[in-house]
Amino acid sequence: MIGRDLLGIEDLEREDIERILETANHMREIGEREVKKVPTLRGRTVVNLFFEASTRTRVSFEIAGKRLSADVINFSPAHSSLKKSESILDTARTLDAMDPDVVIVRHAVAGVPKRIADVLDAPVINAGDGAHEHPTQALLDLLTVQQEKGRIDGLTVTIVGDIVHSRVARSNIYGFRKMGAEVRVVAPPPMIPAAVETLGVKAFTSMREALDGADVVMALRIQNERLAGSYFPSIREYAATFGLDRAKLQFAKDDVIVMHPGPVNRGVELSHDLADHRPSVILDQVRNGVAIRMAVLYLFSGRRKAGRSERIQGSS
Ligand code: ASP
Repeated sequence: MIGRDLLGIEDLEREDIERILETANHMREIGEREVKKVPTLRGRTVVNLFFEASTRTRVSFEIAGKRLSADVINFSPAHSSLKKSESILDTARTLDAMDPDVVIVRHAVAGVPKRIADVLDAPVINAGDGAHEHPTQALLDLLTVQQEKGRIDGLTVTIVGDIVHSRVARSNIYGFRKMGAEVRVVAPPPMIPAAVETLGVKAFTSMREALDGADVVMALRIQNERLAGSYFPSIREYAATFGLDRAKLQFAKDDVIVMHPGPVNRGVELSHDLADHRPSVILDQVRNGVAIRMAVLYLFSGRRKAGRSERIQGSS
């Protein structure tokens, strides 16, 4: 995979996903050692380019790079020449001229990581772009389910909440479908994308039906930063109907697990109790995020693309 971009789960084959999960399992073992560092990426440079807020993803990419002995640079847009009106693409080209081996990009607008990838010689990893994709989140979710259940194939996964604005939902739909799971989505009707069933998922508006027999339930945060207009009468009503608590969980299988990508709005999409206790596995997801990002840095980093700059220059 060296020299390829990781822009979305949509672009991966099942074998690619399996290889990343397998590598992440080795990486997880490094995180359990007393000295959590190996020389694997010594001499490589990782640039974190986050244009949108992040806690888990940014910190875990940094930890992942450092555990593999890479040099990790955290670029902060607020203190850069972007403030002097430099364009995002010129900023990216400037950083690329310093020869990083991989650039991690998060942006509030869908498609920005792809546009950056089109002009860089360094591979680009999408760390979340608008409502489009968040591939490393889906990979860490797949790893968590594989650990908990011993398999992904044949499981029923129900995703609850703001599907239409969620890049996590989209990446997980691709990921779980490619790995052989049944995927259901449930939300107030305006939060279900019109063509969602073309992605091979079943859409519901009743929690009881959507949770019936589920092995995995994933709750999503309402993406307030992307809402225009009203999608439900009130937060209270949303929480009563779609908020996950132990009473609603009764509809699912006895050994169901509950996931959430974070940040959690307690009392809205998840009860306080479920936010903190099994069967929720939220902190395991976070822990697996480091292992997945180590695997992704290991598998994708390395300058490439003989020809990319020539091709771009030739065509511009
Ligand atoms: N942290 C996830 C994301 O960046 C989920 C969320 O923000 O709700 O998409």
